[in-house]
Amino acid sequence: MYTDLNNKVAVITGGSKGIGTAIADRFGQEHMSVVINYNSDEAGAKKVAAEVVDNGGQATIVKADVSTEDGNQALLNAALDKFGDLDVWVNNAGMEVKSPTHELSLEDWNKVISINETGVFLGAKAALNYFKSHNKKGNIINVSSVHEQIPWPTFASYAAAKGGVKLFTQTIAMEYAKDNIRVNAIGPGAINTPINAKKFADKAQLDQTVSMVPMNRIGKPEEVAAGAAWLASDESSYVTGVTLFIDGGMTLYPAFKDGQG
Ligand code: NAD
Repeated sequence: MYTDLNNKVAVITGGSKGIGTAIADRFGQEHMSVVINYNSDEAGAKKVAAEVVDNGGQATIVKADVSTEDGNQALLNAALDKFGDLDVWVNNAGMEVKSPTHELSLEDWNKVISINETGVFLGAKAALNYFKSHNKKGNIINVSSVHEQIPWPTFASYAAAKGGVKLFTQTIAMEYAKDNIRVNAIGPGAINTPINAKKFADKAQLDQTVSMVPMNRIGKPEEVAAGAAWLASDESSYVTGVTLFIDGGMTLYPAFKDGQG
């Protein structure tokens, strides 16, 4: 528990399942007030809101598409209307499309970029405007991926978007450090969430993924949420512009693990 997070107000995009839900649950345990964004799953968002309240926090749910400026403005407005402030903005919403790059449609490319990268820009922009105009110490956390660093054939749009998130995070961390606004990213590895449900249900694919993780297991959403809580809290007060990889060592070139090379 980080006592400085008590009563702080957070927006979490894509909060109705997976990593977003785990972050909302954790922020509830920290007694924060949370705006839970969802895109289509209202029932899921309501369930998460109830969990946040059970955990000791407050919650409200907002339907919004993060790839739009209006959607992000609606999330900011909800934080201000319901809880009167904003302290932490978590750009978590994301999706992926698998396709050989020479067959990837422009429509799918644009969709992946607009949600995973433009959505991060628009969320950060809404938060930065509020923090700047209220002279507020602010905190932005962008959920990136190990694929901001590791190339991922047949997922070029996703890797391109996450690579963009990395440099966007570093750039605005530098741009707004003087304003007491910290901006960091989290780079999850292979985490057990709905985005991976089909892949991990297949034993061969699950084993193949695990073989790329030095710690030899899939990560839990709560383990990512623990990093988000730390980055949101004053315990990380001198940290800005980093990507905190929460990946069981996946970014450590596991092909070298037995001394090859
Ligand atoms: P998930 O599919 O379980 O959740 C993604 C969430 O984003 C969903 O709630 C979905 O509705 C929401 N979303 C998608 N498009 C949206 C839009 N236009 N507007 C608002 N919300 C939208 O996946 P997850 O694993 O929980 O992923 C969360 C984040 O973590 C993503 O950014 C993903 O790229 C990243 N990530 C996940 C893993 C992993 O292994 N699970 C690894 C690396 C990075």
